[in-house]
Amino acid sequence: MNLKVLKQTENKVIFHISNAEIPLVNALRRALVEEVPTLAIEEVTFAKNNSALYDEILGHRMGLIPLVTDLKTYNFLEDCKCKGKGCARCQVKFALSAKGPCTVLASDLKSRGGVKPVFPDMPLTILLKNQELQLEAVASLGKGKEHAKFSPGLAYYRFYPELKTTKISNIKKCAELSKNMVIKGSKLEIKDIAVWTEADEQICEENKVDIDYNKEEFIFTLESWGQLDIKKLPNLALEIFEKKLKELSKLVK
Ligand SMILES: [Zn+2]
Repeated sequence: MNLKVLKQTENKVIFHISNAEIPLVNALRRALVEEVPTLAIEEVTFAKNNSALYDEILGHRMGLIPLVTDLKTYNFLEDCKCKGKGCARCQVKFALSAKGPCTVLASDLKSRGGVKPVFPDMPLTILLKNQELQLEAVASLGKGKEHAKFSPGLAYYRFYPELKTTKISNIKKCAELSKNMVIKGSKLEIKDIAVWTEADEQICEENKVDIDYNKEEFIFTLESWGQLDIKKLPNLALEIFEKKLKELSKLVK
């Protein structure tokens, strides 16, 4: 399996994976989305809420706030020395107190452990005059397979496309319609595979240029929600996958 970074931004990275099989690439995708843990709010206790939003809706919104996660500091509740009772090593406590008129933002959540929301300007609710919100919230580590709010990002892959040359007039039309296709000699080629889209595929289809998909090569896209450093995400996922394989091999023995 070979891996080459095609494009990288602050919260998105696109790889070209070659010489790999679908189950392996899919295992990497699943480990990324479902197994890499992050912090998210699990419990909210309302002392006061006369905003327009019900407690349940606000609680749900708060659960979805991505929190900057330090995996070295926090343990899973079930693996913690406190035996699941909850302590500073497995839970983060937040307090929020706001009085209207104002917009309550994610940054209004103040934690005792210094944990901050990834996007401080995320609005939670709007308070009008005489409306008040007072609450306490508890965040803990979890996995995307338990709840999507714990997912560290989005990962997906597509097969690597190869354009099959047909009539030159069709090739010319494709190159005219898409900025991402160029004519080289008598062949149509993709300029930048990292920005190849379904719209480009549609242009090929409409102009009778066949696309062959190489099922051992992939364009793998990873988008992070910001809780963890995107550069560390693939390694974290692979470590978890390796651990699972070791467990399996032990069981087989
Ligand atoms: Zn604990």
